Amino acid sequence: MQGNLLRVAVFGAGPSGFYAVEDLLKQTTANGQTIAVDLFDRLPTPYGLVRGGVAPDHQKIKAVIRQYDKTASRPGFRFFGNVTFGSDITIDEILAHYYQVLFTTGAESDRRMGIPGEDLSGSYPATIFVGWYNGHPDYRDLHFELSQVERVAVVGNGNVAMDVVRVLARSVDELAKTDIAEYALEVLRKSKVKEIYLLGRRGVAQAAFTNPEIRELAELDGVDLVARADEIELDDVNREFLAEHASEHTHQRNVDIVTAQLPKGEGTQARKIRARFFVSPVEILGQDRVQGVRLERNRLIKDAQGTYKAQGTKVYEEIPCDMIFRSIGYKGHPLPGVPFDERDGIIPNRDGRVLDATTKQPIDRLYVAGWIKRGPSGVIGTNKPDAAATVELMMADAQQQQFPSDLHIDAEALPALLARKNVRYVTYADWRRIDQVEVASGKKVGKPREKLTTIPELLAAAGK
Ligand code: NAP
Repeated sequence: MQGNLLRVAVFGAGPSGFYAVEDLLKQTTANGQTIAVDLFDRLPTPYGLVRGGVAPDHQKIKAVIRQYDKTASRPGFRFFGNVTFGSDITIDEILAHYYQVLFTTGAESDRRMGIPGEDLSGSYPATIFVGWYNGHPDYRDLHFELSQVERVAVVGNGNVAMDVVRVLARSVDELAKTDIAEYALEVLRKSKVKEIYLLGRRGVAQAAFTNPEIRELAELDGVDLVARADEIELDDVNREFLAEHASEHTHQRNVDIVTAQLPKGEGTQARKIRARFFVSPVEILGQDRVQGVRLERNRLIKDAQGTYKAQGTKVYEEIPCDMIFRSIGYKGHPLPGVPFDERDGIIPNRDGRVLDATTKQPIDRLYVAGWIKRGPSGVIGTNKPDAAATVELMMADAQQQQFPSDLHIDAEALPALLARKNVRYVTYADWRRIDQVEVASGKKVGKPREKLTTIPELLAAAGK
């Protein structure tokens, strides 16, 4: 190592990126080394899914940004936004400028259901709708037309499905006080949506959503959460599932929250969220665009490995809908020159050390943390211990490894390379300028911020 300085690159400025940076910079005093971290992101803005994924009506969750902002003030930190890995900078260039490289690029694409009709007009992955209403530059030019749409189906029982259902169901007046993109608000203002089907392939006891999220749907103004007694009645397998998971209170509470909706039946509100359980879409119906979805009824079984699964019963029904969102999980994107596991949508790794695709042995100096390491699970805070575990390995390796002697480690080498390549990178001070512009324009319309949603606008605000 050059002197006692360990220079590390982190790619992906979402929660796991920031938690890893915080942990890396804290190590400085712990072992006598000075650590400098450069955090890169392909967008000109930091914070990943906290900015582009967390629902706009969950501003409290977004408050975690303050902690990341503190991390960014630590000595040894630099931000390089608007830098795309693979095109603006290659793996070889990065490895030539840093001792260690950590990928925290998350899971940006979606899983497919693999059923007929999935690509009909009106059928979308939830991920792009989420990006769209959050003003993500990749999705801001999409057109979701809701003025002719009365029924929407959302497939999946996770918290992303909850977000999508809530944004579709919530009153526009409430959404107008959030940082939702203005163009999305305009579309939602004209929405004719009156029924939203929430389709779970297993039961309410197995649902992946958490208690506050389902409770929030039950408590939305102007909306009834409607469930069917025959779908939430617990059979023997469901009872066994609950008994086996008795220590995880979420399951029983989810059952209780949804069961408490039964006495009001259809309710009296204008909008209905119809929570359906034990149904799997088998075909999306329609000629040119979505007109409905064919469902197969399921039952819960426990297989030989002890896994509780949905099993089709060959009983079918069709429900009408004009739009359908699949919200059945995120998937990582491959990075040029970095191994990738297509099946799981992650970078193959052992506890955070990236593995060679052929030898399955750790590749020196490459690490992962967050969703690209373990897949898309857990809440934002789950990424903190996950990042800490990888950082611990990085520190252990740094003590033992012989680093190449020809690295370009000085602080100015990387910015100079980017400048030579005409990459208009955004620093953290530049981001603060963007932030000020957004907060100021939000203030004029009673929002916490009005996001800039195109790369040119963001770069202009950054003074680039
Ligand atoms: P998730 O929690 O993994 O939920 C995925 C859902 O899709 C599950 O209900 C799953 O059912 C279902 N599913 C998977 N394949 C399916 C198929 N082929 N057909 C029908 N259903 C299928 O994923 P997510 O909702 O994308 O959320 C990702 C992570 O972000 C989660 O950890 C979530 O808690 C977190 N998140 C948290 C918040 C929050 O805290 N407010 C907000 C958003 C996201 P099975 O259970 O049967 O597999």
